[in-house]
Amino acid sequence: MPKPSATMTIVGVDVGIKVLATLSTGVVFDNPKARDKIKKKLAKQSRQLNNKTRGSKRYFKQKLRVAKIHKRISDIRCDATHKATTAISKNHAKIVIESLNVKGMMSNHKLAGAVGDANFYEFRRQLEYKSQKFGSEIVYATMFYPSTKTCSNCGHVQPMPLSVRVFDCQICRISLDRDQNAAKNLEKLGRFVIKTR
Ligand SMILES: [Zn+2]
Repeated sequence: MPKPSATMTIVGVDVGIKVLATLSTGVVFDNPKARDKIKKKLAKQSRQLNNKTRGSKRYFKQKLRVAKIHKRISDIRCDATHKATTAISKNHAKIVIESLNVKGMMSNHKLAGAVGDANFYEFRRQLEYKSQKFGSEIVYATMFYPSTKTCSNCGHVQPMPLSVRVFDCQICRISLDRDQNAAKNLEKLGRFVIKTR
């Protein structure tokens, strides 16, 4: 079987809040779809918990119900993250990812930032042990690498506020999904980094 070319096996991974992860290959791992439905259920059950007398038998019963829904949400997310990290570490020799959750840090919404942070670290943790298992290598981009603001086509750097979802290059006029552009830049970085471990 012919060996895949070195550049083909490098992948840039942009871990997101709206989608789980965007790869430079064009593959997108969506957030689990069931989430909104379960979230509604969680809100309803949480409201009911607030209506119960604290410390009562009914209160504890309801509290358990709420805890179970929380667990289900985290299980669904964890399962999706496992599928994504397995696919990534299995199919690529070199994985380039940001070293810190820059997006979470930039986010104005406190909760979104905290959730994004937890997801990011779990994603990274899984990638780390799976890449060892599958023999792939992880390269970390420093937080100073402007993967979001740089045009992956011509290298031009321009401001990219969080609300802007599409990278429209002012120089070469290419138009790309924001996360896709970031992932492509991460992949490019991987081509210049020689084995780190
Ligand atoms: Zn450009």
